[in-house]
Amino acid sequence: MENLQTIFEQAKELTAKGKAASYIPALAQADPAAFAVSLMSMDYQIELGDCSKTFTLQSVVKVLSFMVAANHHGIEEILKYVDVEPTGDSFNSIVRLESKNNKPFNPMINAGAITIASLLPGKSMFEKVKSVTQFIEKILGKQVYINNEVYLSEYHSADYNRAITYILQANGFLKSDVEQSLQVYLQLCAISVNTSDLAKIALYFATNGKNSDAVCSKEVINISKALMLTCGMYNFSGKFAAFVGLPAKSGVSGAIIAIVKDGEMEHLKGPIGIGVYGPAIDEVGNSVAGIEFLAKCSKHYDLFCL
Ligand code: GLU
Repeated sequence: MENLQTIFEQAKELTAKGKAASYIPALAQADPAAFAVSLMSMDYQIELGDCSKTFTLQSVVKVLSFMVAANHHGIEEILKYVDVEPTGDSFNSIVRLESKNNKPFNPMINAGAITIASLLPGKSMFEKVKSVTQFIEKILGKQVYINNEVYLSEYHSADYNRAITYILQANGFLKSDVEQSLQVYLQLCAISVNTSDLAKIALYFATNGKNSDAVCSKEVINISKALMLTCGMYNFSGKFAAFVGLPAKSGVSGAIIAIVKDGEMEHLKGPIGIGVYGPAIDEVGNSVAGIEFLAKCSKHYDLFCL
């Protein structure tokens, strides 16, 4: 009889099949065998593995910065700068920025997320970053920090993202200058969390914002969930939606948030937030063990997403 612990143990074996991201030098230091999962409902929490480990949000932050920008400007204004269509390209692809329709396809790819970073409320880099950290702090009920080592490591090797940012500026999509847009984006990627924080963020979506004081319109929460379902798992998003069926967002640090609108998993009932950390990632960028864990959970338990 499978239970969460055995599903976790089986998934953990797959860490050997992935590799820690190496294009950001500081991420390459992660232990590829690490694997931890937190699952949280409104009144119960299950922790599997070493859930005290901290790591950076990387692309998971893209959905949160989108929410802050969309709440501030309204969705109609945001759509002038970033669309909500999946691409099928890799997360840091530059190719469509040169096509006739050069508007970034969605806020989950780097081009869209850097544009969103430039649209965040505030004038200075500090204010823009703070608008997102404050939103996350409201959800978590605690302070969050930026991992400066990871930030600087990525900043000094950000040729690709810098190139994307220059093209965005040339095409008129940036609301702040190249350097500020890039730095805000990279600092947000380097926010440090643990799996319990991820589960709480996921629960925020699962409860439509009812698990905390963080304010976000229902429209923006719903669009964020739709973006996660259609573009949240890199070029595996279609298959993840088809075969796992949960809105989710992953990052190259090996982080994943997955949202269960209603479900039952052992003592967890109702809306459930799942936070995963497994730095051994596959070639598209998803935690190998994390995908296996979520796929097995969705097969074994009744989990509903919409
Ligand atoms: N900071 C990373 C980058 O821009 C985030 C990538 C990701 O997690 O998908 O390349």
